[in-house]
Amino acid sequence: MYYLGIDLGGTNIAVGVVDESYKIIKKKSTPTLANRDGKLIIQDMANVCKAVVEECGLTIDDIEYAGIATPGTANSDTGVVEYANNLPFKNFPIADLLKEYLGVKKVYIENDANAAAKAEAIAGAAKGAKYSVMITLGTGLGGGIVLDGKVYSGFNHAGAELGHIVIEKDGKQCSCGRKGCWETYSSATGLTNMTKEHVLKARKEGRKTIIEDLLNGDLNNANARVAFAAMKQGDEVGKEIVDEFISYLACGIANTINIFQPNVLSIGGGVCNEKDYLLVPLKKAVFSETYTKEGTPQCEIQIAEMGNDAGIVGAAVLGL
Ligand SMILES: [Zn+2]
Repeated sequence: MYYLGIDLGGTNIAVGVVDESYKIIKKKSTPTLANRDGKLIIQDMANVCKAVVEECGLTIDDIEYAGIATPGTANSDTGVVEYANNLPFKNFPIADLLKEYLGVKKVYIENDANAAAKAEAIAGAAKGAKYSVMITLGTGLGGGIVLDGKVYSGFNHAGAELGHIVIEKDGKQCSCGRKGCWETYSSATGLTNMTKEHVLKARKEGRKTIIEDLLNGDLNNANARVAFAAMKQGDEVGKEIVDEFISYLACGIANTINIFQPNVLSIGGGVCNEKDYLLVPLKKAVFSETYTKEGTPQCEIQIAEMGNDAGIVGAAVLGL
């Protein structure tokens, strides 16, 4: 059996034919060109789907269903995207349109962070887990919750917004309107901003840091990697930034574990390339804060396994 997984993003639409063992057989992408009529976007999506199916030597009849992982609030019951920040969709029936343009039997949709969590639960780091949570540290902090094989997103499909739980009351301003949201500290953007703040502070205090050299003296070059890179070279400021980043990340993860006690909590995003430099101190901090103590089985904290394919595979497993 074959499935079509579609990762719809603000920049690109990536489509893959996925087989029963959750492997992507072939993939293809096209620019989203988000500033146009939504119907044109779905037409292009259908065309890429047709092309990639053909390249696999298959026909649309060989496809069990198509799944779409989309940004925003996706009503998985109706197939309607109710709202998406960076796409021209407002109460827009993307599932029905794709079904019409593609002639596929069935189309499922889900929010992209939720779909990624389902990919990890079915084929990745949380394979075999009854309860799992995934967080993705990117531009924002995406959250997905899978309970008994089903995505949990609340009665209105807008839940699991873990990035917008407050971990610092009256803290940093978040794009959602609140202050002190987890994502303002623990996303890749949050780490980049934290790095800039610490370098500015070091300048004021007359402290030297090799981050200045790594950024060629220009804070506009700051990114989510440089603090870890500096720390690994023994830089004090780098270590302070990493410590602060990990303490905020641990706070949000401990909150999440205290609510859900998932078997597995997986973490995705580029910062996971730091592997044990991230994971070892993070676990120590998390388990010093969680409610459960020795004697009770503990949640496993793992690096997500699906990487850039999380969207495609997550979309392809939506009907399972
Ligand atoms: Zn927020």
